[in-house]
Amino acid sequence: LESIQVGELAKKLNLKPGDVIGRLMKMGEMVTINKVIDAETAALVATEFGCEVRVVSLYDETIIKEEEDLAEAMVRRPPVVTIMGHVDHGKTRLLDTIRSTNVIDTEAGAITQHIGAYQVETPQGRITFLDTPGHEAFTAMRARGASVTDIVILVVAADDGVKEQTVEAITHAKEANVPIIVAVNKIDLPNANPDKVKQALVPHGLQPEDWGGTTVFCEISAKNNIGIEHLLEMVLLQAELLDLKANPTVKAVGRVVEARVDPGKGPVATVLVQKGTLREGDPFVVGVYSGRVRAMFDDFNHRLKEAGPATPVEITGLDGVPGSGDPFHVLETEKEAREFASVRQHYKQITEASQRAQPSLRTLDNWM
Ligand code: GDP
Ligand code: MG
Repeated sequence: LESIQVGELAKKLNLKPGDVIGRLMKMGEMVTINKVIDAETAALVATEFGCEVRVVSLYDETIIKEEEDLAEAMVRRPPVVTIMGHVDHGKTRLLDTIRSTNVIDTEAGAITQHIGAYQVETPQGRITFLDTPGHEAFTAMRARGASVTDIVILVVAADDGVKEQTVEAITHAKEANVPIIVAVNKIDLPNANPDKVKQALVPHGLQPEDWGGTTVFCEISAKNNIGIEHLLEMVLLQAELLDLKANPTVKAVGRVVEARVDPGKGPVATVLVQKGTLREGDPFVVGVYSGRVRAMFDDFNHRLKEAGPATPVEITGLDGVPGSGDPFHVLETEKEAREFASVRQHYKQITEASQRAQPSLRTLDNWM
């Protein structure tokens, strides 16, 4: 939907705003200088002044053409997993247990830092976990058209059962078409009732395999490290069925998981590489910002030289703080990256301005 403010149109036609407004009123359009009109109306009124309007989509200019993926270049990549579930059912504890028992790095006493995502190495393969708190991050990403999650682990406490946010999580996962693995947690508790959890989930379309359904249920204790290994095996089995592949040979493409200003490093962003390989020194555009990868770190603050598909890395070298879910693209040159960023900034400004002037106007939400 292309549109323009009346005042802006008058400027482009080299006319006084009053003249354009007057002509529009004669055409039956009651407008003010700030009113946004569609391209068709703009073209009509321009004709009245003997001008021709050519509609140029700035939106199109914000889109980066990605390199084509050749089938023979595709290789297996680790699954990206989000843990969801009701508050206090053990999401954080599960993430902590998984992380501390499956660290890629065996260096004793290595200090972890929260970057919003991390990767673990299991005997069956690597898994990437997003650990930005639950539902919000998931829905925020989805709202940006960025479904980065391949598999959802739904944590349900065996003593508390199916609750409001459990159902919410199921809805989100289903809408995103992401398969769910149920982790029935806290089975160490004396009042744990895993069967009750199973029963309660059937009406929500999650039927256990041993009851003739297709949903994998794992009974675990995040606290006592029971059943976690099996859960991870099930995740990787599911990943195999999904046949997750990416091309590591192209320029890196990814999504921002989270971003902030670090007192020492300046703006930093955790980027989940979705395809290609990201390297130190790569010029990039991320949302409305650009830069060059000055340094990359993992969740142990170790410096990395490169990061392939499904790898989360914290990068420095940005000229601003992007939003969660913003797209990340490596480009040929820093100049090209700056140009894209500036077009996007311009586009963002005008869409926000037109929305302020006319909140009812439909604008493109997923603008990149
Ligand atoms: P979240 O809100 O889903 O992130 O839940 P937390 O991970 O913060 O866990 C909530 C509480 O449940 C904490 O006190 C945990 O120690 C406890 N908890 C988590 N997992 C287990 C478990 O397997 N068994 C028991 N007994 N307690 C657990
Ligand atoms: Mg938590």
